[in-house]
Order: sequence, then C-alpha cells, then structure tokens
Amino acid sequence: MKQGLISIIIPSYNEGYNVKLIHESLKKEFKSIHYDYEIFFINDGSVDDTLQQIKDLAAVCSRVKYISFSRNFGKEAAILAGFEHVQGEAVIVMDADLQHPTYLLKDFIKGYEEGYDQVIAQRNRKGDSPVRSLLSSLYYKFINKAVEVDLRDGVGDFRLLSRQAVNALLKLSEGNRFSKGLFCWIGFDQKIVFYENVERKNGTSKWSFSSLFNYGMDGVVSFNHKPLRICFYTGIFILLLSIIYIIATFVKILTNGISVPGYFTIISAVLFLGGVQLLSLGIIGEYIGRIYYETKKRPHYLIKEANIPNKDLPETNELKSVRRLTKMH
Ligand code: UDP
Ligand code: MG
Repeated sequence: MKQGLISIIIPSYNEGYNVKLIHESLKKEFKSIHYDYEIFFINDGSVDDTLQQIKDLAAVCSRVKYISFSRNFGKEAAILAGFEHVQGEAVIVMDADLQHPTYLLKDFIKGYEEGYDQVIAQRNRKGDSPVRSLLSSLYYKFINKAVEVDLRDGVGDFRLLSRQAVNALLKLSEGNRFSKGLFCWIGFDQKIVFYENVERKNGTSKWSFSSLFNYGMDGVVSFNHKPLRICFYTGIFILLLSIIYIIATFVKILTNGISVPGYFTIISAVLFLGGVQLLSLGIIGEYIGRIYYETKKRPHYLIKEANIPNKDLPETNELKSVRRLTKMH
C-alpha cells in the first residue's frame, strides 16, 4: 500500500472511444486534489481498440496502469482484478463510459478524510425509461424484503473504498460475485453522496433486458436462502390443503357413497402440483448450479498482458524497467 495514493479502477469493455476522454477528465479533476493517483484500466476482453488506446496512454502517462484479460470475464471479475492489483490507500471504482461524473471525486475524498471507509454515489433515475424505473423500484422493494443486506436503488459500484474495506472485500473469495451485495455485506462506516444521472454518450450499454434479469436473480440467490424456505413452506401448505381435501372427500364417501370423480379436480391437482414441483426444482437448481461452479474453484479471470508485475506473466523489458524504478524509489 502506498501512502497518499488514490487508485482509480476502470473496468473497460469496448470503450475505445471513452478511454482518452475519461483519462482527460480525471487528469483535470486531480489538478485540484492533493493526492497522488494511479488510473487502473482493466480491459475486459474488448474486441475494439480499447487495449491499444490504453497502451497509447500508458506510453505517455506513467500513472496509467492496465491489465488485459484473455477474454471477456465480466465487470465483476474486472473490479476484483483491480482490487487485487492496485496500490492506493483508497480506491475508487468507476465506469469508463463517463456516466460517473468525475466532479464527485472531490466529495469522495472529503468523505474519506472525514474517516468514512465507503463513500458511495447514489444517482437519481433521470433519463431512464419509465418501464425500467418502475421495474427497478419494484425489484428493490422486493429484494430488500428477501435478502439480508440493504440494497439501495440508484447505488452501484461507483464509490470510494478505504484500504481496510478493499482488504475486507478481498477476503470474500466466492466465484459468483454480486458486488452490490458484497459492498453492503462488509459494512464499515458509509457516506452517501447524491448525483444526477448522466446518460451514456458514446458506445452502448452492455446490459440487455435478459442480462438485467439474470443480474436480478443473482441478487436474490447470492444473498439468501429464503427461496428454498419458500419452497418448503409452499410444500407444507399444499400438504395441509390436500389432507383437508382427502378427509372431506373420505367423509363424503362414507355418508353419500362413491360418486364418479371429477375430471376437473384431477387435472387441476396434477397441473398445479406439477407447476409447484417444477418451480421448486428450478429454485433448488439455481443453488446447486452455484455450488457446482464454486466447487470448481476456477480463477475469476486470466490475464493476457499488463504493464504491472504479475507472477503469471513473462517478464518484459518494459516491466523490468518499471520494477527497477519502483525499487529505486
Ligand atoms: N464492463 C466490463 N465488462 C463487461 C461489461 C461492462 O468491464 O462485460 C464495463 C463497461 O466498459 C463500463 C462498465 O462496466 O465501464 C459499465 O458498463 P455499462 O455502461 O454497459 O453498464 P450500465 O452503465 O449500462 O449499467
Ligand atoms: Mg454505463
């Protein structure tokens, strides 16, 4: 850890156009911030010229560090790679697409100096489509009843974390990482700063409706086992109902004799129970799927190249000179 150094982690996937812009914007902002800083790009298997843009910057600006993955591993893996490699006493996570305004950095650092371990940016939903806003607010109402951490609408990964908070996050080794939940789970002193939503200007969002839905599922399943309990309670409820139905029918048979059983009753029971069983199996499957992936213990990401020393990478001349310089300091 370096004293007085702020590290900025920027996961980047097909952000070729934005790399220089965000670097420019950060450089401007840090003119009035009295901390040293490093900008840490993680190229998450981009298929455009993101990596080349980052390399061009790194060639002229020694504050620019990068790691480039062997393929697209997802934003969560990119953030983790950042945490594992940055050196700062405080770490800021932000997107490359300029949707996270750099003017908030001053507020972040102010919060950090006040002693907060997490300074969290919360956006409003200005500019989001009404359907997306409605679905998100319903989702957050639901999820906060279901999970054991307190997730806020409009809060994402854009935040400052103290070294202590980063170290705590690094202790959570799960493969399926739901950062929003992990950030809440570690706790520590938190401060919220608000900002107006900014729409993406260049490139496109990597979130489709289905990936948002899957992300939502991750949120529910990663942080609690209540769905399993709901299956259990539904099972008990249906069992009780059927016992009542069996007793009532039996009494009716004893008093009135057997009448021809109704087609409707049978078919309803078969379909309803079939549905409940499949749903329960699906929920159990979600958990088993996760256990399956966790037991494999695969690395979260693979690095193809970087301009920082890494044990998995061959030592290049460029890296040798970086190492020499670091030793000299
Ligand atoms: N990102 C990434 N890997 C991915 C998808 C996204 O590193 O597989 C990065 C992306 O380059 C951006 C940030 O994560 O810097 C947020 O992505 P995006 O803008 O698509 O998400 P949104 O702002 O729509 O939530
Ligand atoms: Mg974005």
